[in-house]
Amino acid sequence: MKNLYGWNGQILRINLSDGKTSVQKYDADFAKKFFGGRGFAAKILWDELKPGIDAFSPENKLVLAAGPLTGLPGPSLGKLVVVAKSPLTGGYGDGNLGTMAAVHMRKAGYDAVVIEGKAKKPVYLFVEDDEVNVNSAEGLWGKTTFETEKILREVHGRNVGIISIGPAGENLVRYATIVSQEGRAGGRPGIGAVMGSKNLKAIVFRGTKEISLAEPEEYKRLSLECYNVIKSSRGYDFWIRQGTMMTIEWSNENSVLPTRNFKEGIFEFYRCIDGYSLEAMKMKRRGCPNCNMQCGNVVLDLDGRESELDYENVAMLGSNIGVNQLGKVAILNRMADELGLDTISLGNVIGFAMEATEKGLLENGIEWGDFERARQLVEDIAYRRGLGDLLAEGVMRISQKIGGDSEKWAMHVKGLEISAYDCHTVPGMALAFATSPIGAHHKDAWVISWEVKTDREGYTRAKVDKVIEFQRIRGGMFEALVSCRLPWIELQFPLEYYPRLLKAATGLAFTLDE
Ligand code: SF4
Repeated sequence: MKNLYGWNGQILRINLSDGKTSVQKYDADFAKKFFGGRGFAAKILWDELKPGIDAFSPENKLVLAAGPLTGLPGPSLGKLVVVAKSPLTGGYGDGNLGTMAAVHMRKAGYDAVVIEGKAKKPVYLFVEDDEVNVNSAEGLWGKTTFETEKILREVHGRNVGIISIGPAGENLVRYATIVSQEGRAGGRPGIGAVMGSKNLKAIVFRGTKEISLAEPEEYKRLSLECYNVIKSSRGYDFWIRQGTMMTIEWSNENSVLPTRNFKEGIFEFYRCIDGYSLEAMKMKRRGCPNCNMQCGNVVLDLDGRESELDYENVAMLGSNIGVNQLGKVAILNRMADELGLDTISLGNVIGFAMEATEKGLLENGIEWGDFERARQLVEDIAYRRGLGDLLAEGVMRISQKIGGDSEKWAMHVKGLEISAYDCHTVPGMALAFATSPIGAHHKDAWVISWEVKTDREGYTRAKVDKVIEFQRIRGGMFEALVSCRLPWIELQFPLEYYPRLLKAATGLAFTLDE
């Protein structure tokens, strides 16, 4: 599109009901107003979805959206937002994942892809620059995300980006995710299940075009400077050792580590699942494209298979369900990634089932810390077998079904299970979860570290202002840029670099406030 740099100015539309594809052009006004990522996706869904539709109906739309910096060299700029009306919350739902699919989608010439309708039989999409193919996925249906990606790489070669769903998405588990590269997952509010409802198993992108930049030399210089700032930051070396796993110890010390369905904030065995235990088991790191602070800690689980751990999945599948061995947590985590289940909601659901069993509200349930039963249930949830069929619905709906006083300890907001911070003694973080637009997700306003350091017990206007400020940065800026927050949060990477990168990429002078 004329005079548009950074953005490609194109949205690819694919209707799976009739197989038709089209390319929608957009102009600089649209780009400046809605920016990218969550901004584009929310605008598209707002304009195009009829109120009251079933999230699993063909009328729902699946949107993949990038930002004007996605796919360019620069700190943590290899992410994609995946969006739809959520089958878990009934509202707007999104998530993001780091994947080469984001890079290839942009290099194929698209800033977003909108998938409409429903295929009659399982299909996958192969998007190679201007060519879009809807291919049969009958041989892939039923495969795990790891198997699917491996097969598709054998067919299409290594130089592609792939996202896929596992059996959980196919079986419409309400918290099924979209997975890429054996462990990068996104779409907590059931975006993987929306993909499954469309009979869409996977999308393979190959892009070979250049993204045109307003000031290419300046962009190159600046992105190099950004990488150097991150690498020379004070906490870099420890981050490389533990990544987000350092938070297990921090949360436990501050009594916010979710323990036994959020009943407590301290886990007596936290040392067995913390960052130092991780270091003893760690084999290598993995991460998102274009990131120089990769945080995917790869360990061997007790079955000898690779599993990529981070704070949220270890807290939810460890302390929150009373499992106190990292090698066992790693098994549950790997299963979730293979089956395409969200680890945060999964840990909530299992913890909730444990409490329901303790209180006599669930027959043939599960005891606290029963790893073998948890392992069985993870599979049963993905295939909706036995008790797993009920547990696949998420804690809000399970609570409505089993009744009693379970509503009080069904840990969700708007139907989305709470991320791994117990809020009994951090009211600002509770407010952040309560007002997050998609339900209780830490990605929108994570004020807890500021709150613990400043005014832990206060119910003040300043705290409300901080929640709003963080929602605008985390849920607004980062979700529209589709960049990772961790350089800023963990290594104090200055936010002021983002308008500068944008200026070099798009030629437009945005202020940080804008
Ligand atoms: S810090 Fe972690 S989540 Fe963020 S971009 Fe890097 S690897 Fe991905």
